[in-house]
Amino acid sequence: MRYVSTRGRAAEAGFGDVLLTGLAPDGGLYVPVSWPSITPQRIAAFSSTPYADVATEIAAPFCEGEIEPETLRRICSEAYAGFRHPAVTPLVQLGTNRWLLELFHGPTYAFKDLAMQLLSRLMDHVLAERDERATIVVATSGDTGGSAVEAFRGADRIDLFVLFPNGRISEVQRRQMTTAGDANVHTLAVDGSFDDCQALVKALFAKPALRDEVSLAAVNSINWARIVAQVTYYFVAAAALGAPARATAFCVPTGNFGDIYAGHVASRMGLPLEQLAIATNSNDILARTLESGRYEVRDVVPTTSPSMDIQISSNFERLLWEASKGDGEAVSTAMERLKQSGAFDIDGPALAAIKQDFTAGSADEAAMAEALSRTLDDAGYLADPHTAVALSVAGRMRSEAPLVTLATAHPAKFPDAVESVVGYPPERPAALAALFDREELFTEIAADVGAVERHIMDHARAARMEA
Ligand SMILES: *Cc1c(COP(=O)(O)O)cnc(C)c1O
Repeated sequence: MRYVSTRGRAAEAGFGDVLLTGLAPDGGLYVPVSWPSITPQRIAAFSSTPYADVATEIAAPFCEGEIEPETLRRICSEAYAGFRHPAVTPLVQLGTNRWLLELFHGPTYAFKDLAMQLLSRLMDHVLAERDERATIVVATSGDTGGSAVEAFRGADRIDLFVLFPNGRISEVQRRQMTTAGDANVHTLAVDGSFDDCQALVKALFAKPALRDEVSLAAVNSINWARIVAQVTYYFVAAAALGAPARATAFCVPTGNFGDIYAGHVASRMGLPLEQLAIATNSNDILARTLESGRYEVRDVVPTTSPSMDIQISSNFERLLWEASKGDGEAVSTAMERLKQSGAFDIDGPALAAIKQDFTAGSADEAAMAEALSRTLDDAGYLADPHTAVALSVAGRMRSEAPLVTLATAHPAKFPDAVESVVGYPPERPAALAALFDREELFTEIAADVGAVERHIMDHARAARMEA
């Protein structure tokens, strides 16, 4: 499979390069030149196929020619072996034709594990083949950091630097990043906000000398391999509920548009979807965009679903590219407007194309709390706040098809928010409780590019090897 940039000014690339670089050199995101298709017979067979085998089959066409089928099979099998449920992403029934897809049975109890566990192994494999090393720098507002640490700890060829805003994440989240104890994991507590952390990472990637010197790689949600990994559970859940004979509806709690975009990819690959619903919290840029055709950034409002407190939904650019029929110039212009004035307009035909494939709804804090309580009362199910945002939107959806809401985090990761709604904290699983007995290791650092760059140069093995 070959990949092109959504901004149309970068050379085509293969899977290995797309995997290791993340962002295209022209600032765009990589997209495949064509959609592979999965036949109805294969979709039907997924209902009795182990998760890792479905993951192999979905990923195969995207890395064809670059990763041997047997290697891919082994990598997928190892990636999902550490999950705490034999189905990896089990379905839970909430009501007549209403379901939850639990995506939080990975090592850090967050759905990010589903992609990160595969991504780390793919990267390590490609680096070994090329006899190269890489340095990953990632900013986190909470879940991504822990998931990355768990996925990359101990990797032979990769050093991981995680930047988090000191004092602004939950204790569980911090401990998930600071107690790994592996020599290749470097956790930096930045004296600043999440936006500062993200700006630092952007500034580091904008330094060509550093980029080359330590082979910087990005693992944030724009990395194409993460999208591919997320396509699998749409097929698995839909097949369990009768696909391809029956279409399925999904409602997805959305921030950076990675998770729901994977659902869209599943549909392009042949999975019959009745509806794909974007659920946002009060940071409802996507819901507003679908309504008005204007993508307009406002200030981020902090909520109890912090992983969705996002105004720029990075992966939306991939959809925009597709809706404008692969017109890289149009996407470039829109992104330039966004940078300069914080908004752009989507033209009529492109908006119509988007609305054909997506619906959208949002839930403010009161609606989230109402959905969380109602689900507990009606079905005895305690959801986390991100999931509850989507449950609120799903509650307002009409669907003849089985309606599946994606559950993206374990409630014990957000104990305060859950307790403030239901009056008691969720039970903490043993693996999360154990974090509180371990020693924490992290470096406090100023929100200063020079300081962070020096720290990386001093600690990245990729730099030492070349010195
Ligand atoms: C990352 C995250 C989301 C949002 O996923 P996107 O791919 O960014 O849309 C939702 N819920 C939780 C718990 C997350 O960690």
